[in-house]
Amino acid sequence: MNLPLITRAEEYNAKIAIFTDAGAFTYQDLLHISSQIATNLLQNAEDLQEQRVAFLIPSGFEYVATQWGIWRAGGIAVPLCISHPRPELEYVITNSGTSIIVAHPNFEDILRSLATAHNLRFILTSEALPNDVGRLPEVDITRRALILYTSGTTGKPKGVVTTHHNIQAQVTSLITAWEWTSGDQILHVLPLHHIHGIINVLTCALWAGAECHMLSKFDAEVVWHRICDRDFTLFMAVPTIYVKLLAVWETASAERQQSMTAGCKKMRLMVSGSAALPVQVLEKWQNISGHFLLERYGMTEIGMALSNSLHNQRYAGYVGQPLPQVEVRLVDESGDLVPPGTPGEIQVQGFGVFLEYWQNPQATAKAFRDGWFCTGDLAVVENGNYRILGRMSVDIIKTGGYKVSALEIEEVLRTHPDIQECAVVGVADSEWGERVCAALVLHPQRQLTLKSFRSWAKEQLAVYKVPTKIITVAELPRNAMGKVTKPAVIELFR
Ligand code: AMP
Repeated sequence: MNLPLITRAEEYNAKIAIFTDAGAFTYQDLLHISSQIATNLLQNAEDLQEQRVAFLIPSGFEYVATQWGIWRAGGIAVPLCISHPRPELEYVITNSGTSIIVAHPNFEDILRSLATAHNLRFILTSEALPNDVGRLPEVDITRRALILYTSGTTGKPKGVVTTHHNIQAQVTSLITAWEWTSGDQILHVLPLHHIHGIINVLTCALWAGAECHMLSKFDAEVVWHRICDRDFTLFMAVPTIYVKLLAVWETASAERQQSMTAGCKKMRLMVSGSAALPVQVLEKWQNISGHFLLERYGMTEIGMALSNSLHNQRYAGYVGQPLPQVEVRLVDESGDLVPPGTPGEIQVQGFGVFLEYWQNPQATAKAFRDGWFCTGDLAVVENGNYRILGRMSVDIIKTGGYKVSALEIEEVLRTHPDIQECAVVGVADSEWGERVCAALVLHPQRQLTLKSFRSWAKEQLAVYKVPTKIITVAELPRNAMGKVTKPAVIELFR
C-alpha cells in the first residue's frame, strides 16, 4: 500500500498542486519528480528504513518534491531552518543522526562543509535526477515520517517525531473542521521547518487536492499583491504577520486599500495561531478585511488541539473547543480535572499526538501523564470556550510565532567574552507577541553595543532567538535562594 497522501495525489493527477514564481506544478508533476528523488535517495537500496534525510530548500516546488521523495523512499524528513547559522544546523544534523543532506545551491557552502565534516552523503537539488524510476518501497503509516526541532524548558531543542499516522490524524482533523476541499486555494507564507507551515497549510492543501501558492520568502508587500491579484479561499498566519500586513495596509492609498480589502473578502476563511492573537489586532483586521480571524491553538507535539468554530459565533480572546479526533482536558497540579471557570494545564490525547522525542525516552516519558500529553500551557473554560492563559514556564518565549528557550539562549550568551552573567526574558510586544530581551552583567571594564552584540549572536543563534534589546546591570535580580527572578528581569525592560 502506498501512503494515503500519495494515493490521493494520483486521483488529483492533472490538477495544480503547487504554484510558485517558477510556474505551476500539477499533482502528476509532484508524483513524478518525487519518485525520481526517491530513486536517487535509494541508490539501489530497497528502502531507506527510516534513515534521516535533512534538507534545506527555500519554500517552493523543490521543497515539497524533496519532502515527498524522502517519504516515498522510506526515510524520515528533517527540514532545516533557512535562518539557522552553522552551529544550529550542525546540532540538528548530528542530533537527528542524519545520513543524507539535500541542499539548494544557495546553501551549498555551509551544508557541503557540514556533510564533509560528518562524512554524510550530500545531494544538491540542481543535480540531474535519474530518468528511470526504480521500485519504491511500501511505507506503512505507522512508520516515522518527520522530525521537527522545538525548544523546551531544558537544554537544547528536542526532535519531535511524528509518524505518517500522526500526520494523517492532524491533517484530517483540520480538513474536517475547516472544510477543506479540492476547490481551495491557499497562499503559503510561513516557514517550512515548523508545524504551522508544514502541516496546517502545505499538507492539508495537498491532502485535500487544493492549490498551494508558495512565496520563496515572506514580504508583506508581495503578500498583499498576491491577495489582490488572485482568488484565494484561505489564508493562515501568525499574529506577527497580521501586524505586518496591517502596517502596509495603513500606509496604502485609499484606492489600494479598497483592492486589498476586496482581496480578503474573496476568501472564505482567515486563520491565526501559533501565538496569542491580541484582541486589538483581531479587531483591526476585522475592520480592514471583514474577517473575524479564526484563532486556533496547537503545538508541534500534538498538532492542532483547539479551534474556533468555522460557522458558529467566534469570541475574541478565545480559541474555541477541541478539534475533531482530539481530546483535551484541564487539570490542576495534583492531576485532578478542574471545573469550568478554574484554570488548569492543557493536556491532550489523540492519534495526532507525536510518537516520541528523538532518542530521548526520558523527556518523552516526562511529557506524558496517564497517557495524556502535558502541554505546559494554562487555560480556562468560560461559557464553553477555552481561553489560553499562557505558559507555565517563563523560560519559554513565543516571538513572532517561534517558540524559543530562554535557557538555550543564555547558554550561548555566556560564551561571549564580555558577558559574565545573563538572563533572557520575553517582554510583551504588540508586534512580536513577545520580544527576546537580555539583561547582561559584563566583565569589569567591558562595554558592549547592541549592534556588535547582535552581529556576534547571529553567528551562533537563529536570528529570531537573538535578543533585540539588551541592558547591562551590575547584578541580576535574585531571590533569597540566589535564583534569578525572571519577573523582576522583565520589569527592567518596562
Ligand atoms: P509550537 O510548538 O512552536 O507551535 O509552539 C506551541 C506553543 O505556542 C503552545 O504551547 C502555546 O504556548 C503557543 N500557542 C499556540 N497557539 C496559541 C494560541 N492561539 N494562543 C496562545 N498561545 C498559543
